[in-house]
Amino acid sequence: CGIVGYIGYKDTKDILLNGLAKLEYRGYDSAGMAVLDEETINLFKVKGRIAALRKRTEDTGLATMGIGHTRWATHGAPSADNAHPHQSASGRFTLVHNGVIENYQELKEDYLDGVAFGSETDTEVIVQLVETNYERYQDTAEAFRQTISLLRGSYAIGLIDREDHETIYVAKNKSPLLVGLGDGFNVVTSDAMATLKETDQYLEIFDQEIVLVSRHFVEVQKLSGTVVNRQPFTAQIDV
Ligand code: GLU
Repeated sequence: CGIVGYIGYKDTKDILLNGLAKLEYRGYDSAGMAVLDEETINLFKVKGRIAALRKRTEDTGLATMGIGHTRWATHGAPSADNAHPHQSASGRFTLVHNGVIENYQELKEDYLDGVAFGSETDTEVIVQLVETNYERYQDTAEAFRQTISLLRGSYAIGLIDREDHETIYVAKNKSPLLVGLGDGFNVVTSDAMATLKETDQYLEIFDQEIVLVSRHFVEVQKLSGTVVNRQPFTAQIDV
């Protein structure tokens, strides 16, 4: 299971596919990605190998931001529907997640009554909550923060908003996640190894932090909203 995200100027698809292939060692049963071009989010999900995902995305056009995922199923059988990314009911928000949301059933009952779910995963609750909170706060960063505050369990999360071509929203608790820094681009990854071709400069992200990742800017925040100052480290290439 792993996550790769990219926002920059290069063709995202290959960066995501190559990154996910490097994360194969972690084990997975399905894979997927979402890339955002000028107008739409294109979603691809397969049960099985990265090679099948590569094939599925062959004809997709240029996109300069996106998120990819390999899934190791914990809630819901391995299938294309249960593979990530997951989308909110309107299709506006798209999310990948590693980990387990322990209180997903409770959150579903308390906040998402009447929402039509497209999968059997614990994960989908997160993206549906972002949309519900967006309706309330009319601000994606705030909706994201409010949603993350409700979660119990482990998570590394990447979220994109169809209406915002400048941000990948990231959160972490007890599942690995790093943000890689580039010149005119930035990446999100479970393991620096997956994106070393792009950059060797990484920010460690601690539990219960949120990160707003854009092309030219990365902001780490505590869940409370306090901005955190952090210096990158240089990832070593393992040979
Ligand atoms: N719990 C989530 C699911 O079953 C994420 C699993 C993972 O970490 O890959 O879909």
